[in-house]
Amino acid sequence: MHQPPEDNKPVTVARGLSSEEAAIRLKTFGPNALIAQKQRSTLIILLHQFKSPMMLLLGLAASLSFVFGEWLDGSAIVIVLLINILIGFWMELQAVRSMHALKDMISLPAKVVRDQRTVEVPSDEIVPGDALYVEAGDMIAADAQIIESSELQAEEAALTGESLPVSKKNEPMPADTPLPDRIDMLFKGTFITRGNGYAVVQATGMKTEIGKIASMVQGAHQAATPLEKKLEALSRKLIWVTVGLLAAVVLVGVFRQFDFLELIKTAIALAVAAIPEGLPIVATLALARGMIKMAKYKAIVKKLSAVETLGGTDIICTDKTGTLTQNRIEVSTIACQSGIVEIANEEDQGVLTYRSGEEHMQSADFIRLLEVAVLCSTAEYSTTGDAHTMIGDPLETGLLRFAVAAGMDIEALRKTHRMEGQIPFTSETKMMVTRHRSGNRIWVAAKGAMEEILSHCTHISRDGRVEALDSAVHKHWIDQSETLAAKGLRMLGFAWKDDDHMYLTPDDLVFTGMIGFLDPPIAGMKEALGECQNAGIEVKMITGDHPATAKTIASALGLIDAAHDEIILGKEMKSVEQLTAEDRKKWLHARIFARVSPGQKLDLVTVLQDEGHIVAMTGDGVNDAPALKKADIGIAMGIRGSQVSQEVADMVLKDDAFTSIVRAIKQGRIIFENIRKFVVYLLSSNLSELMVVATAALLGLHFQLFPLQILFINLVSDVLPALALGMSSGSDEVMKQKPRNPDEPIISGQKWVTIWVYAGVMAICTLVGVWMHHVLIDPGDVWEPRISNNILFLSLIGAQLLHVFNMSEGRRFFRGEEFGNKYVWWSLLITASVIGVAYSIPQVREALYLGPMMWADIIVVAGATFASFLINRILKRLGWLK
Ligand code: ATP
Repeated sequence: MHQPPEDNKPVTVARGLSSEEAAIRLKTFGPNALIAQKQRSTLIILLHQFKSPMMLLLGLAASLSFVFGEWLDGSAIVIVLLINILIGFWMELQAVRSMHALKDMISLPAKVVRDQRTVEVPSDEIVPGDALYVEAGDMIAADAQIIESSELQAEEAALTGESLPVSKKNEPMPADTPLPDRIDMLFKGTFITRGNGYAVVQATGMKTEIGKIASMVQGAHQAATPLEKKLEALSRKLIWVTVGLLAAVVLVGVFRQFDFLELIKTAIALAVAAIPEGLPIVATLALARGMIKMAKYKAIVKKLSAVETLGGTDIICTDKTGTLTQNRIEVSTIACQSGIVEIANEEDQGVLTYRSGEEHMQSADFIRLLEVAVLCSTAEYSTTGDAHTMIGDPLETGLLRFAVAAGMDIEALRKTHRMEGQIPFTSETKMMVTRHRSGNRIWVAAKGAMEEILSHCTHISRDGRVEALDSAVHKHWIDQSETLAAKGLRMLGFAWKDDDHMYLTPDDLVFTGMIGFLDPPIAGMKEALGECQNAGIEVKMITGDHPATAKTIASALGLIDAAHDEIILGKEMKSVEQLTAEDRKKWLHARIFARVSPGQKLDLVTVLQDEGHIVAMTGDGVNDAPALKKADIGIAMGIRGSQVSQEVADMVLKDDAFTSIVRAIKQGRIIFENIRKFVVYLLSSNLSELMVVATAALLGLHFQLFPLQILFINLVSDVLPALALGMSSGSDEVMKQKPRNPDEPIISGQKWVTIWVYAGVMAICTLVGVWMHHVLIDPGDVWEPRISNNILFLSLIGAQLLHVFNMSEGRRFFRGEEFGNKYVWWSLLITASVIGVAYSIPQVREALYLGPMMWADIIVVAGATFASFLINRILKRLGWLK
């Protein structure tokens, strides 16, 4: 039986599939997904661990040990190699898994008609036969044939390589028409740039055109981030330093006629000491963990490299509505020629309370205004019990909600005024026009920015009578809207006309009134903006809204002050090529850009980047995509944003809130700091080993550290404490510093000095410890090599473990984030237990060349350990170490 169509849907798709039928088809045809992007297989990740030059060097050391019959050392190196490989493998697996989990978080829903209603379903669940509803900004979920379209255009570059949008119409073409010419079809993976329409799904998943060219999407590979590349470069550098040192030791050894075997052992020890195993992978893990943490703060970062760039961001260009303000779409004032109504409160349950002018609500102008609001809209709003279903632009759903609260039957109105055509809203035109048929009457409804609507009006209605709109009345309405905008209200104008034209034109309209929406700033926004200021990040408001509204909100938020109160209007903005140096300066200085179009956002990003800034830019519309791509960090809105903007952005804000950007930047900075701490810790620890081994070798001392011992030290110090540093929750200090220059290396000149001093102090203290032991505890002419070695070995472990606390920022002596980092304490506890266990197993003790210890020996070890810690702390406290 034929059912009457619901609202504005075309008859053919009005019913859609039933949920039961859809479920059956889903079983038959399978999910609408491209075969999961080929993940790096577990085996590949495992093999990847063997590839690093460090592993090769360690492998060489092991082979040399075997060649010279040092079976114990050789086997130990192999075991340590394997442990390292396993740890690296585990970490990389974690990183890959977190990335995958994040991908799931950004899957986009599709709008379909099911059981006669338009609903949003996960795009995986789309089946052939589903009626899709698409509108500007949507990613198309499946290949579908157009049934009805209104000014529909799609960008199909992903499929055809053609970057200009193509018009799409309900004009069936033969099936063998080449893809670019199939104007009757929408294809999965492409997106709508303009208009809206209905289309019936023909193919899903791998059967779609894009599914057929599966390689296009499966080749996607996560490239190494700049940070990972920098770390790899650093490791390579270290290997060369090691090779140089080895050559020096061997040369001196040959010159002094050292025992050859001893020389080889020392060379192996040096190689082992210098290598900070697992350096690059910890960076990946820290970045991936950062992404998960940011996701908890509602900021979904899509690329690892974005985490880094976030830390260096120094300008945020943000829109206003919904990002800085609540986007509450609560009607505050309605003004028509016949009077003004002020709404005190729009309750959730649809009850309106009035501040004044309630009597006007039944006047012809107000009723007409509400009719225009309901008809000139593609949103859906329905209520079942206490639950509301809202689909579409929040401004439009807000208007529908208000119309229902004001007593309108929106479904009945839409049925009696079937929509026959529309000029969709764009941020450029700032208005929307629809055409409706009611019996024999044709009716045009329009809504949009006040100055736009008024510029298309020739008449105005007063108590239902249509009068000419003269310039004085025109000016009166412009002034009135500015007055309300200056109170921070978002203004929207409404107009209509009776029409008998064949074509939809937005001219000769009758102005019927305007609505001011209350849109207060989000709580805590002022503090978030203050935090940006402290962190050296400038915030610019780039809005499509009226300058007066923008200025009021900006000053309420403390975004502008007397020195920065100029507003740049979209219409004043020249194209990039025409800009003079003076204009560029003005753009750099201004904090508010109002009535700006998406194209101008792109120009602004270009100019700011030309001046060397790292720019984050928010955007929600389909036309914002180029600016989002161009920005160093493109930020899309998860709730309000179009699907395309979410697709091209580097970061998606699940809650649309600016505060999430600030939290993400803070997190980005913390991650970078953690990685830096981690590198400083590893390098200074390993350098201290190098110094000790090289000193003993070059001075021909009677004791030396053995490769196995160095491996053990690295195993206990490099792994857990270093990992704990990577997990540090960071201090608030990071948001009091200026943004980092992204080109700056991880370790700058100053930090290198710090690393050498840290390492020098640890090496000297432990060597002095051995000497003190000999002088105070074990005096005599003959040095006992084993006890000397043991003192050196244990105090070096102790010094390195305590050294983890030196990574706290700031100059306070026993305070700082590492003292409060529970992971650090856990890592020390576990490491101490590992050492205890190793010592208590006789075979391991023997392999590590450890002998019995007296209390006096332990006191010397503790002394050397604490001395090294305290000296480094004092140097830091004095501000000598940065
Ligand atoms: P921001 O850019 O800060 O998010 P905005 O949402 O006001 O602010 P746009 O979406 O570009 O910016 O809208 C510009 C103007 O167009 C608005 O001030 C409003 O007057 C009008 N407008 C917004 N949405 C619609 C719509 N769906 N239909 C008609 N007019 C609209």
